[in-house]
Amino acid sequence: MHVVICGGGVIGAATAYFLTELGVEATVVERCSIAAAASGKAGGFLARDWCDGNAMGPLARASFDLHAELAERLDADYGYRRVDTLMVAGADEGSVARPGRTGRPARFPASAWLDGNCAVHGRIGSPETTAQVEPGAFTRALVDAACRGGGASVRIGTVEGLLAARGPHGAAAGVVVDGEAVAADAVVFAMGPWTALARQWVPLPPIGGLKGFSITLRPDFEAPAEMLFCEYRTAGGEVLSPEIYPRPDGEVWVCGLSDDQPIPIDPADVRVDEARCDELRRIAGTLATGLAGAEITRRQACYRPICADAMPLLGAVRHARPGVFVATGHNCWGILNAPASGKAMAELIATGEARTVDLSPFDPARLLKAA
Ligand SMILES: Cc1cc2nc3c(=O)[nH]c(=O)nc-3n(C[C@H](O)[C@H](O)[C@H](O)COP(=O)(O)OP(=O)(O)OC[C@H]3O[C@@H](n4cnc5c(N)ncnc54)[C@H](O)[C@@H]3O)c2cc1C
Repeated sequence: MHVVICGGGVIGAATAYFLTELGVEATVVERCSIAAAASGKAGGFLARDWCDGNAMGPLARASFDLHAELAERLDADYGYRRVDTLMVAGADEGSVARPGRTGRPARFPASAWLDGNCAVHGRIGSPETTAQVEPGAFTRALVDAACRGGGASVRIGTVEGLLAARGPHGAAAGVVVDGEAVAADAVVFAMGPWTALARQWVPLPPIGGLKGFSITLRPDFEAPAEMLFCEYRTAGGEVLSPEIYPRPDGEVWVCGLSDDQPIPIDPADVRVDEARCDELRRIAGTLATGLAGAEITRRQACYRPICADAMPLLGAVRHARPGVFVATGHNCWGILNAPASGKAMAELIATGEARTVDLSPFDPARLLKAA
C-alpha cells in the first residue's frame, strides 16, 4: 500500500511516521519545506489535561503520553522537556496584584527573572501535566525517522489535484503534483488551513486559518523552564494574552498579537509585521526586564487551521471517493495532538479501524451535515 500525504506540517509528519511503523509506504508532498508553516512557528507547549471537558480530551491525553515515548524513540534532540506553567498578570502601568481573600494583594512567589511590572497569579501546570518541544525540530524528527527506514519519502511540490478512478465514487488513485501524476492507494489531505483547497475535489467542510505573530529572543541569561500565560494591560487599555516560553536552547519564544490578513495561496507569502514583532519584545521586556534588550532571532507569522466547531477533522471523507482522508483543524493544539492524531489516522488507513483513540467525534461528516 502506498499513501500520499499532502502537507508536511506536524499532522502530515506524524501520519507518515506511524504509517511506516505499520509497514505502509508514505510520500509526503510539501509545497515549501517540512514545517514551513504553523508547525515550524508555533510555541510547542503541551498539556496533558487542558483539553479535558471536550471531545479532544482523550486525544490530548494519549498524545501527551506519546510525546514522552517519542522523545525516547526518535533519536533526535528537539527540546522535549517537562515544565512548570504560570499564570501571570502584567501591565504597561498600574498595579497588577490581585486582591487575596484578606484584601491584601495575593502574590505567588515569583521567579527572579520575572522582575518587571508583573505578578504571578497561579501555577497552572506542573512537570507532571505540562511539557514543551521545539515544534519545527519535532516535525522534522518525525519525517526523518519515517524516511530513515526507507518507508517514507518527501517530495517538494504543490498538490494541484486529486486523481481518481472514473465515476463520481471512483476510488482515489493519487494526486497531481506540479502537473505530474503521483499514484497512490490512499490520499490524506493534511495541508493545515490550505486543506481548504481540497474542497475543489472532495466534499469537505469549510476550513479557515487564524493568524498569529511570534518572535524568538536570545537573552544573555538562561530563563528557567517556566511557561508563562499572561494577561497584559496596555497603557491604551487593551487586554492582551501574550505567551512566553523559554526553550532549552536558551531562546525565548513570545506570541500574543495577530491581524486579520487573509491567508495567501502560497504559504511562503505569509506576511510578518515588524512593528507587531517589536511590540511583542517590548511587552516581554516589561514583564522580565532581562528580555527588554534581547536580540530578536526570528520574526514570524503563521495561521492555525480551524473549523466551525474548533475541533479537528480526522477521518475518511465519507460520501466521497474511497481512499480519501483528511487530517487537520487542530486549532491551537496541533503540536500537542499530532502524535495520537497521526497514529490513529495511520491505523484507520492501514487497517480500517483507529484503535489509539476514537476518531468519531472528529468525523468530517459532522460539519457537512450542518453546512
Ligand atoms: C502562534 C501560534 C502558536 C501555537 N502554539 C501551539 C502550541 O504551543 N502547542 C500546540 O499544540 N499547538 C500550537 N499551535 C497550533 C499548531 O501550530 C497547529 O495546530 C499545527 O501546527 C497545525 O499543523 P498542520 O500540520 O495541520 O498544518 P501546517 O503546519 O499549516 O502544515 C501544512 C503544510 O501544508 C503545506 N501546503 C500548503 N499548501 C500545499 C499544497 N498545495 N501542496 C503541498 N503542500 C502544501 C504547507 O506549506 C505546510 O507546511 C500554535 C499556532 C499558532 C498560530
